[in-house]
Amino acid sequence: FLKTKIVILGAGYGGLMTTVRLQKKIRTDEVEIVLINKNNYHYETTWLHEAAAGTLRDDQVTYPVKSVIDVKKVAFIQASVTKIATAEKKVMTNIGEVSYDYLVIALGGESETFGIKGLKEYAFSITSVDAAKRIREHIESQFSTYQNEALKKEERLTIIVGGAGFTGIEFLGELVNRIPKLCKTYEIDQNKVKIYCVEAAKAVLPGFDPELVEYAVAYLEKRGVEFKIGTPIKGADPEGILVGIGEEETQEIKAGTVIWAAGIRGSSVIEESGFEANRCRVKVDPDLRAPGHENIFIIGDCSLIINEEINRPYPPTAQIALQQADVVTNNLLALLRQETNLTAFKPDIKGTVCSLGERDAIGIVFGKKLKGKPASVMKKVIDNRALFSIGGTSTVLKKGKFNIL
Ligand code: FAD
Repeated sequence: FLKTKIVILGAGYGGLMTTVRLQKKIRTDEVEIVLINKNNYHYETTWLHEAAAGTLRDDQVTYPVKSVIDVKKVAFIQASVTKIATAEKKVMTNIGEVSYDYLVIALGGESETFGIKGLKEYAFSITSVDAAKRIREHIESQFSTYQNEALKKEERLTIIVGGAGFTGIEFLGELVNRIPKLCKTYEIDQNKVKIYCVEAAKAVLPGFDPELVEYAVAYLEKRGVEFKIGTPIKGADPEGILVGIGEEETQEIKAGTVIWAAGIRGSSVIEESGFEANRCRVKVDPDLRAPGHENIFIIGDCSLIINEEINRPYPPTAQIALQQADVVTNNLLALLRQETNLTAFKPDIKGTVCSLGERDAIGIVFGKKLKGKPASVMKKVIDNRALFSIGGTSTVLKKGKFNIL
């Protein structure tokens, strides 16, 4: 008698939520559950901009996978997935193969540089705890080198953030809090630090409420951020970036640090495995299965869901990944019961809050506009809620955000 084997790839919002939901609802003598993740810890992807700026320590952004899974019910494998051989129902990893009957792909996103020359090589992106750590250490090393060098290279103190979407703005919000501290540590005149936000679109946070956007822009400008809107980045090199001005002209901006926060794609494993996809995001069926694959679900940043109202994809969010995990759990249980009628996923967008550092934010929640402290408190409630939904009270108590004064 062979148990049915469910394999979940990725212990982020989508994957870990699916795992903890399944372990509650499934008897182990019926089913084997396997979770595969690159690291032995889960990280809060939505907090990575804080780790990158250095306003939150790495260990505050992570918790061990084994602290939330029931090891009697779930086998955890720490490995990097390289490919899925769908015909053989096997997952390839850096340490060997794992077979499956049902698969849930929740491997998250990677940076999308749209083929812009030099960005992959010379710009950082905020995509994992390791990537965040590299950004934080790089900025700090620029400041420390500047302090110690005889012939001062002023551009070391220039930081460029490519993209004025949510990730770019949230990172800038942290950065403006961090810079005064770095200047104090390395005895640097803060006026020498330059922070640019370069955005190709005609607006900051395109599509978001204009009054709230104005609030965010004024907040960041007051703290030293210079916005270059309608300015596409054309390339990057070790010295900085090249931006387009008008139709033909380009201009160089020298910088010690360039962070690319303007594009996200799904995991490259999607492409490697031959799924039909758009930037490694698979347009899944309503029940969240990959078209043509009855036993494979794809959720989170690797999936693409169309917002029928505007006929455009929903931006990938933790909110959607967590909601998809619930639907996938129910659909897996239905399949195990041999049912054919699966639940369709319908996102329930409760709102969006964009932080501006630890104590300020803008957002729309349940249709209501928020800015300043109420928005910031709401952001912490949302952050704690995500922790709670996967890790329960003990995880909230250990990692939650309670500094609301
Ligand atoms: P993730 O939660 O990113 O998890 C993917 C997991 O897979 C990770 O644990 C990773 O280590 C693992 N993994 C990846 N590749 C492999 C591999 N090859 N092998 C094994 N394991 C692998 N969304 C919101 O809703 N609200 C916000 O305020 C918000 N803010 C954000 C701020 C930042 C800085 C960023 C980067 C994103 C933000 N998002 C926000 C988006 C949100 O974080 C993502 O949409 C969400 O994390 C997607 O969930 P997921 O389960 O698909 O992937």
